[in-house]
Amino acid sequence: MVTIKEVEVIPLRIPFVRPFKISRGYVGAPGKPGEHVYLKLVTSDGEVGWGETRPMPSWMYETMESVYTTLKKYISRILIGEDPYNIIKIHKAMDKELAPVVSSGQPFAKSAVDIALHDLVGKLTGTPIHRLLGGKIRDYVEMSALISGTPDAIGDYAKEMWQKGYRCFKLKIMGDVDEDYKLIKALIEAVPEGKIWLDANQAYSSYSLRFLLRKIADIENIICIEQPVPTYDFHGLSRIVRISPIPIAVDESLFSHYDLLKLISMNALDALVLKIAKSGIRTSTKIYALAEAAGISCMGSGMTESGVGFTAAMHVFSTMEMIAPVDTNGPQFLKDMLVRGLEIEGAKVKVPDKPGLGIEVDEKKLEEYKAEIEI
Ligand SMILES: [Mg+2]
Repeated sequence: MVTIKEVEVIPLRIPFVRPFKISRGYVGAPGKPGEHVYLKLVTSDGEVGWGETRPMPSWMYETMESVYTTLKKYISRILIGEDPYNIIKIHKAMDKELAPVVSSGQPFAKSAVDIALHDLVGKLTGTPIHRLLGGKIRDYVEMSALISGTPDAIGDYAKEMWQKGYRCFKLKIMGDVDEDYKLIKALIEAVPEGKIWLDANQAYSSYSLRFLLRKIADIENIICIEQPVPTYDFHGLSRIVRISPIPIAVDESLFSHYDLLKLISMNALDALVLKIAKSGIRTSTKIYALAEAAGISCMGSGMTESGVGFTAAMHVFSTMEMIAPVDTNGPQFLKDMLVRGLEIEGAKVKVPDKPGLGIEVDEKKLEEYKAEIEI
């Protein structure tokens, strides 16, 4: 029987080539690198599985340091000596060690493990991850362009992305009705044919959002407003869903199928945003199944992951019906994706067909971007 023999946890800082700001602050910018953690699992016969997560504590509480210590101190001992095919058993052991309670219990750290196990099982069986999930329904996954900045600054960049083939634009709005309206107008002026996906990252209340809705209700380009209200405000979401002419999507309010069941029971969403960092591969497929049964539409996004997390998302999203091009924006913002074998043409990403993730991690680059962390 093949077993996991070594677990290596590698914290990284990857430079940003352009600024990326949301209502809660910077995701990254030149001089403000993104923090990532890579997980390397080596089996008794020398096979390697890779996982990645992208902690961003201003968005969700896990930090690079907490992911590092969670994986090193609490999860490594679960993995060592275990059969990598036992993904369900390993998830149960992780949840016993770090109890989910009402949240998912260190979901970002667990998602790195989940990705690495799927990479391993794929390599051990000679199967790409999408085939482990039932097989892709498309060969290419189309991406949205992430737009953030001031009304003056975003137009040129949106036009540039249109030229590159992007047709859907995810615009970060900040919670000020007049300023956000200016951003939306500037984007429409730059790319009048583009679809617009708004993301407020919790910046509104169910009260204040109504004033934005009055101004933008008739703009046909807008496909949804994502997470207008705080993560915990399911009642606010429910009030908004009842009156909004624009579909409401949830992101920070949904990490698991348990969260989705509550949201559905409260009629608190029209669409949901899947992210592998939030839910791993396994829980993402559970969320998707429940959404399908409940008639909730799905969208794909990410946390500006580099190659490993990004590719995991491509495998998962290639197996699902999505209502918009996915917002996986690592290639837009990161100086380096750290892997070989990614094929991106304009806004389209080829779904890899080699075993596991189907890409190769450039371990020299892991050395180059390795972060010293203080605990
Ligand atoms: Mg979001």
